[in-house]
Amino acid sequence: MKTFSFCCELLNGVHARPASHVEALCNQFCSEITWQNQRTGMSGNAKSVLSLIGTDTLLGDECLITISGQDEDTALDQLKRFLTNEFPHCDEPLQNSQSSDVALAPLPRNFSNLNIDHQQGRAVSDGIGRGILSMMGAVNFDNLDNLPSALSPSDEQQQMKHGLASVVKSISIQLTSSEHTESQVLQAHLSIVNDEEFQQTIIRHLTEGRSCAEAIIATAKHFGDMIKNSSSQYMKERELDIRDVCYQLLQSIYGEERFVSQTQLLEPTVCLAQDLTPSQFLELDKSLLKGLILSHGGSTSHTVILARSFAIPTIVGLDAEALSECIGSHVILDGHLGVIVTDITKPVERYYEQEQKVKQIVATRQAKYRDLAATTKEGKAYEIAANIAHSVEAPQAFLNGAEAIGLFRTEMLYMDRTCAPDENELYNIFCQACEAANGKSIIVRTIDIGGDKPVAYLNIPAENNPFLGYRAVRIYPEFVEMFKTQLRAILRASAHGNLKIMIPMISSMEEILWVKDVLAEVRQELRKEQVPFAERVPLGIMLEVPSIAFIIDQCCEEIDFFSIGSNDLTQYLMAVDRDNAKVVNSYNSLNPAFLRTLDHVVREVHRHGKWIGLCGELGAKGSVLPLLIGLGLDEISMNAPSIAATKERISKLDSRECRQLLNKAMNCRTVHEVEHLLAQFRMTQAEAPLVAKDCISLDLDLRSKEEVIKTLADNLFITGRCRYPNKLADDLWAREDVFSTGLGFGFAIPHTKSEHIEQSAISVCRLANPIAWGDEQAQFIIMLTLNKHAAGDQHMKIFSKLARKIMHADFRDQLMHASTDEQVEALLKQELELV
Ligand code: PEP
Ligand code: MG
Repeated sequence: MKTFSFCCELLNGVHARPASHVEALCNQFCSEITWQNQRTGMSGNAKSVLSLIGTDTLLGDECLITISGQDEDTALDQLKRFLTNEFPHCDEPLQNSQSSDVALAPLPRNFSNLNIDHQQGRAVSDGIGRGILSMMGAVNFDNLDNLPSALSPSDEQQQMKHGLASVVKSISIQLTSSEHTESQVLQAHLSIVNDEEFQQTIIRHLTEGRSCAEAIIATAKHFGDMIKNSSSQYMKERELDIRDVCYQLLQSIYGEERFVSQTQLLEPTVCLAQDLTPSQFLELDKSLLKGLILSHGGSTSHTVILARSFAIPTIVGLDAEALSECIGSHVILDGHLGVIVTDITKPVERYYEQEQKVKQIVATRQAKYRDLAATTKEGKAYEIAANIAHSVEAPQAFLNGAEAIGLFRTEMLYMDRTCAPDENELYNIFCQACEAANGKSIIVRTIDIGGDKPVAYLNIPAENNPFLGYRAVRIYPEFVEMFKTQLRAILRASAHGNLKIMIPMISSMEEILWVKDVLAEVRQELRKEQVPFAERVPLGIMLEVPSIAFIIDQCCEEIDFFSIGSNDLTQYLMAVDRDNAKVVNSYNSLNPAFLRTLDHVVREVHRHGKWIGLCGELGAKGSVLPLLIGLGLDEISMNAPSIAATKERISKLDSRECRQLLNKAMNCRTVHEVEHLLAQFRMTQAEAPLVAKDCISLDLDLRSKEEVIKTLADNLFITGRCRYPNKLADDLWAREDVFSTGLGFGFAIPHTKSEHIEQSAISVCRLANPIAWGDEQAQFIIMLTLNKHAAGDQHMKIFSKLARKIMHADFRDQLMHASTDEQVEALLKQELELV
């Protein structure tokens, strides 16, 4: 017998991943190896991950290793070497997309002042959702009833043998196509299924006459309890791994019909997941999915793009473990601020009631535009289309007011599976989309695989610069049969709808000519086979590689239409990675160089009598819309929930003014100058008097300074005077921080000169009951929000005039006792000499 001691230097102690390394090494020897934690006195079999975890070994614990058997000398030698040299480095922290150098946006004061219990991530899909927080993949064994009863112990053992083998096989297959974190997690799961103690515990239950299901659940509970007793929070959270593996085992023995997939939702739910594949997302019942929190995933990842198109509020980069204690409880996900609220107090309820009210008012107003054609003030029409990634999105896109599908990203049909879809599967999907479109046009983009969209079964090796590498049209020659299959499916479906074909990432004439040859071949084949298809299916290209801008005249001779992929065109023109947070400041589509490029290509395409749209994320950005209208694009395609808002914005613009604005923007020298120009343009867009009835509310039930400032700022958003009410409110708070604006006599005058108010306003609110306003009480609030670019010292003049008037009792009385909004409006106008 040999022994030695060592001290654990792992920050998170011996949990599943490091334990699986020890177990793997120890299983190479026939000697018995035990691991005793001197602090807890607990010892375990070093050949079992679960047993090792059960010793509750934490950072700094002294452990005694005992080895006895034939090969004890070699085992001692190797284990000692491993524990000294490799073990301390074998547990890199799990990668989290919330890298420390990506600063989270500061939360608005109206929210942070409420001291709400919350966690913050990055907001990637807007909206507010409420539901039970549930971890995808986490199973509650207590909820499983009517378990299958036991057959004979030998039958049950046989079933268990097959079940274990099939789980091992399935995890091993997943391992071949996984990377980094995912592969470490899978490795840990594999060690659990193969674990000696785990398997022995199951067998013991079977020999006692239990069914496989009963044995698995009892085993899960046994090891789960053992881990839950650990003194480390980190270790406790590893219990999920055991539940996960045990559920996979149940599914493999009894089938997924009996033990349904954990993507099945039973009540309004906010889903929390390390990661979610696009196909898992599509499986979820959207009527019950109220929000999504992903530890990983950027703002243009495909699952996130899907979430946006289904209007599911989504946050990324939030550590799932930080929320583990809230699983099963009611939460609110705020996809605008990027927070998940875990304690729903009364002020929280009131905060979100107000948020919902504002959303509702805006949605009702925008709904009027949804089914109308998008036309500018002077009557120029623009086609507003939707981006989709699967035919299942198409009906909703049209319900949201899409006049066409401007981009059907098809690569998702190829991802998260073991082989490419065949022609019939694709044909059916395209036919489904045609049915939803009911004659409206659909631009199907052929596969854009590679870059950030890997497909394991194509075995494309990892690259240093995937966005500059083997991607989209560049892979077609190698996978020509797959490309042809897709073309055949699109052409066949073209017999049932108005389909167009678009090729991604075209950078040269050679690629265009090659694609046209292949397309001609496919057409010829179909003709020969007498398969019906529309003879005139237009062929277009994505305009996303800058080289095309310089040969656009030649492309117009070969190509029917173009769609600007602003996501990629920005990254390729500015040489700035669209997914790299470090260079996010240089990734800006307002760069004058970018605007000049857009203007050049649109003019050239139109000069040649061809059609050009835009389908990148830029299309949905309200602030940039005047520039896109100024360009004279034929179409703008975007996520469907943004369509009604865009149509409303277009109705308020004049395309000739937008053209002048674009000319000025292209002459700016910096992004900052363009932003300033856009802000000034917005200011001139509406004539709104300083005092107006729609900014006056009497006898409101507001209970704090936060509620007052929020409600008044929100109202300025509703009335179209400001775009970012939270930023405007923050500017008001900045003033309140210096000195509270309570004047005494129940009056307060919060005020700011801000870039966030487009049309200056005096807002008024009389409260049902007085509230604390700093050291004073306030019941009548007059809020001054003046535009930063407004003339001279107007701000101070109005402020001091108001303050002086409020010193007069009869002015105060008249305001306090006014019975209508109109009376207040008239009084203020008269006293401030604004008539
Ligand atoms: C784009 O690049 O703007 C685009 C729409 O394509 P994707 O985001 O799929 O690369
Ligand atoms: Mg692109």
